[in-house]
Amino acid sequence: MEECIFCKIINKDLPASVIYEDERMIAFDDINPQAPVHVLLIPKEHFPSLNEIPEEKKDVLSHLLIKAREIAQEKGIAGRGYRIVLNTARESGQDVLHIHFHLLGGRQMTWPPG
Ligand code: AMP
Ligand code: ZN
Repeated sequence: MEECIFCKIINKDLPASVIYEDERMIAFDDINPQAPVHVLLIPKEHFPSLNEIPEEKKDVLSHLLIKAREIAQEKGIAGRGYRIVLNTARESGQDVLHIHFHLLGGRQMTWPPG
């Protein structure tokens, strides 16, 4: 998926402020942060959205979520609270078609989301 901007970040063809990386995933700061902490967590394998994750690859989701929790702890927002967002397909507002969790925190959140 050479045209995918998140694959380009994984392949280091596009710069990013990388917070964490292992063989399965990478986490980096969102370029347009919506909160004091706004980190994106993505699998290295390209899937457009949650809709395309096959059952046998479901472990990648728990890996991303547990890493999001760890990063929240490291950033000092775990106790205060944080939000993890997984936009999926058009009406959710998903713009980048490479599945990504948003980790947002460091300010009071509101509900319902827009
Ligand atoms: P979504 O609307 O859920 O698809 O979110 C896409 C997110 O990717 C947005 O919050 C963008 O600010 C972020 N984004 C887009 N391009 C980059 C980039 N090159 N580096 C970091 N974050 C990006
Ligand atoms: Zn991709």
